[in-house]
Amino acid sequence: MISNRRDFLKTTAASGAAGAMGLVSQRSSSTAGKSNELAAKLERLQAAPVLKTEFFQQPVKIASIELLKNGRHYLVRARSTDGAEGIAGAHDSVMATTFPIFLQRVAPFFIGKDARELESLVHGVYLKDSNYKWQGLPFWVCVASLEIAVLDLLGKVAHKPLGDLLGGVVRKEIAVYRASGNRGNSPEAEIDYLKKIVAETGANAIKFRLGARMRYDDASTRRDHSLIPLTRKTFGDKMTIYADANGSYDIPMSIKIGKIMEEYRLSFLEEPVPFDYYDETKQIADRLRIPIAGGEQESSLRRFRWMIENDGVQIVQPDLLYFGGLIRSVKVARMAAAAGMDCTAHMSGGGLGYLYIAHFASCVPNCGPHQEYKGDGDTTPVTCESSSLKSENGVMKIPSGPGLGINFDREFINKAGVVSL
Ligand SMILES: [Mg+2]
Repeated sequence: MISNRRDFLKTTAASGAAGAMGLVSQRSSSTAGKSNELAAKLERLQAAPVLKTEFFQQPVKIASIELLKNGRHYLVRARSTDGAEGIAGAHDSVMATTFPIFLQRVAPFFIGKDARELESLVHGVYLKDSNYKWQGLPFWVCVASLEIAVLDLLGKVAHKPLGDLLGGVVRKEIAVYRASGNRGNSPEAEIDYLKKIVAETGANAIKFRLGARMRYDDASTRRDHSLIPLTRKTFGDKMTIYADANGSYDIPMSIKIGKIMEEYRLSFLEEPVPFDYYDETKQIADRLRIPIAGGEQESSLRRFRWMIENDGVQIVQPDLLYFGGLIRSVKVARMAAAAGMDCTAHMSGGGLGYLYIAHFASCVPNCGPHQEYKGDGDTTPVTCESSSLKSENGVMKIPSGPGLGINFDREFINKAGVVSL
């Protein structure tokens, strides 16, 4: 089946309909020996350091980590004993619930430590006080928000953008796509909405939703059958079209819908079955030519390794916040690259996620052709000298200044309160 998948990818890329995968699976001729070779490589990459520390001559001792709140916005501020400062947007809606975990189980571990050790500190806080038992979105969003604030701090000390700290900048701009969050509307209403978001971004890629979210019914199936052909008919062969089932299907329905998506040259099917149905996801991937994407709910580096090693999905999608930050996500990307796969980060709907996606893509060669963009809806007041932070003709410039490369509105920061228990 994998050779069929490769043919499919070649065909869609050649037709201009997809251009979906920057890299295609190179595993068609894999032998047992090659599989062992890949497994060993993935194991090495899981352990190999990501954060570059050669930019720093001396320790960058963390003096304080504060959780700030202004309105519904949460921010993490990290300060060094030398007076340097890094700030990151946290995931607002998650942090509104999980801030006690941040304050009690995550932040204290970092105080007084050398920020150059951030990579081992992220693993250290996972082990500390059995935090590994707490892992999942509530724990990792706290760690990720803190990690990005410390990366911003380190970038400012070294005068380097995040991408250079995480391996080296390989691109300065990204092609973006917008995803529709709609379900339950008519196919015609959804087409109108997709037209609107395409017009807003100028993007040549879109994503829409299938199924009924972790289930399907007759109405959602009728909508799916109608919408898939209608998207291609409406937007033409040059549009890259993705669809996300959010775990709605079972294996037979995934195969049925996947074959329609193949017929209309869609570029990937995301989360056909519930996210933790690893074996079922692989069975679907083995029986379809269209690439299967997944990983936004994943919290385990080891399980990503399994998915990559076993070709369980063809595009891995760690969420930079839900999965615990940029360092862990770059590791996933490097493992994916070893198997010839793309790693396109999933976009959390908050906390400057669209900027984190851009910085991730800045240093990940195999980030895939389009990155999700939600900058239009982000109300965190920031400015940037090196980028409009907007999608212009479907492309956003990645900030190139130190750290995140942005400036927070000072009044907004000054008016924020420090969150305590
Ligand atoms: Mg999704």
